[in-house]
Amino acid sequence: MCQLLKETWLDKLNEIQRKGLALCLDLPSQSSLEALEVLSGTLPIDLRREEMAIRELGKINSYSNNVPIKRKFEIWKEEENPEKFISPLGKMYQQTEDMKDTELVDINKIEPQYEYQGLVSVIRAPDYWRNIGSSKSRTTAQIEDGKQIISEQLKSQTPNTAVAFTDGSCLGNPGPCGHANIKGNDEADSLAKEAAKEAETLAVDDIVFTKQDVKKAARNSVTKKWQRRWENSNAGRHYFRFHPEVKNKVKKDFPSKRMYNTCNIINSLRTGYSKLNAYQFIINQHINSETCDHCKQKENVQHYLFECDLYSDARDKLFHQIYFITGQIPTDLDNLLTINLPNAESINQLLAEYIEETNRFSG
Ligand SMILES: [Zn+2]
Repeated sequence: MCQLLKETWLDKLNEIQRKGLALCLDLPSQSSLEALEVLSGTLPIDLRREEMAIRELGKINSYSNNVPIKRKFEIWKEEENPEKFISPLGKMYQQTEDMKDTELVDINKIEPQYEYQGLVSVIRAPDYWRNIGSSKSRTTAQIEDGKQIISEQLKSQTPNTAVAFTDGSCLGNPGPCGHANIKGNDEADSLAKEAAKEAETLAVDDIVFTKQDVKKAARNSVTKKWQRRWENSNAGRHYFRFHPEVKNKVKKDFPSKRMYNTCNIINSLRTGYSKLNAYQFIINQHINSETCDHCKQKENVQHYLFECDLYSDARDKLFHQIYFITGQIPTDLDNLLTINLPNAESINQLLAEYIEETNRFSG
């Protein structure tokens, strides 16, 4: 997806994202997208796109200058005129610069893609492989063919090419033979040693990054942007209180369908998008009042978990058991709903029991 599409296109995609996530999390479709993304651990679409762009540009930068797209990128970097309208490449480059600032990973120092005699390594096997059979079922004729192919390959190399065999055997010297008498192996040895020495003496400034480094840094870079966005958003503030760090994840695997449903209810208490009247009154035209059917107070999350008399037995039990675990009686919603409390799992379990005992959400 091009990063320069009109904002309205992104809006449409976000609308789909919102409906999909709400469905999966069993929350109302009016829920704020920001809260749904943080709750489910789903990177916002535009940041996911940015992550992919950074990784792609890192990959392009590792190509040799023979590759057209790399050449285009090099030319673009040399251009002096600042762009009137930002190009897709310019946007990608800007994003990698952001990553360089926060993660200190510079795609201009990415390790070049492996090349052999000017060609990029290919995954496809050479043609002759198909004709020499497997080592277990090879015919005499195929063995002869194989020998010939290998000797031709060896002859075509320059004298300073090091040749290594994967199974320790080699032409004219069958069976595992270690390094015995094979021209090239000594050379390979000394080359490897030289390379190792060189690596030891690399100055800090010569650090090269791998595609793995870029992948990790790209994720960290966009996660930091996501975090800033979550802190500064006006939406989903009820949920922000209990899940302020986007990188923290809410547990997603549950032993049973019943527990899964109950955990969705707990999440609805965290987001505030719950079946309680205070919220339903806002989104559901068939609900005539925001008050509790029992005591005529405003039925919000605070009322359900801390105040309503109807549930005082279940609540006494809940608080009592939490006291046994934490040494403290819960005093506010933070003590019950924050996702990464030290005893979050046990508290979640007790909360699930409270929800089942109160019977407020069944049916
Ligand atoms: Zn009540």
